Amino acid sequence: MNPIVGGCLCGAVRYTSKSPPLMTAICSCKHCQRQSGTAFSVLVAVTKGSLEFVGDEPSTYHDRGSSGSPVLRRFCAKCGSPIFSEVAVTPAIDWLKAGTLDDASWLEPTVGIWDESAQPWVPKSDRIDYFPQSPPAAG
Ligand SMILES: [Zn+2]
Ligand SMILES: [Zn+2]
Repeated sequence: MNPIVGGCLCGAVRYTSKSPPLMTAICSCKHCQRQSGTAFSVLVAVTKGSLEFVGDEPSTYHDRGSSGSPVLRRFCAKCGSPIFSEVAVTPAIDWLKAGTLDDASWLEPTVGIWDESAQPWVPKSDRIDYFPQSPPAAG
């Protein structure tokens, strides 16, 4: 069974994915901190375009990443929950905000990006490979 089923806080945006999870990462960039209102985003990579929405389509904030390239930040217009991001430098992937999953018990982040802007109190995991910015292989 595909574990990628979820939605926003108010329930107006609900999704499933035709793609299995490809990887799970955390992102400590300043933009993720601002958008999420917390220390980092937990992101599940799925194949671009594989998310299917029931109910409202997410709204879009046109952002630029810390590296300067376009990032479409997709969110619920009713409650403001971030849902997923489309990042120009990773055109094959949609980055789902893992906090919106109905069941997040299977998550196992293995990559930590933009660690140079991580909040200093956040403990490091020995199961995560950290990169100061984006990993060299991104995109
Ligand atoms: Zn909502
Ligand atoms: Zn980020």
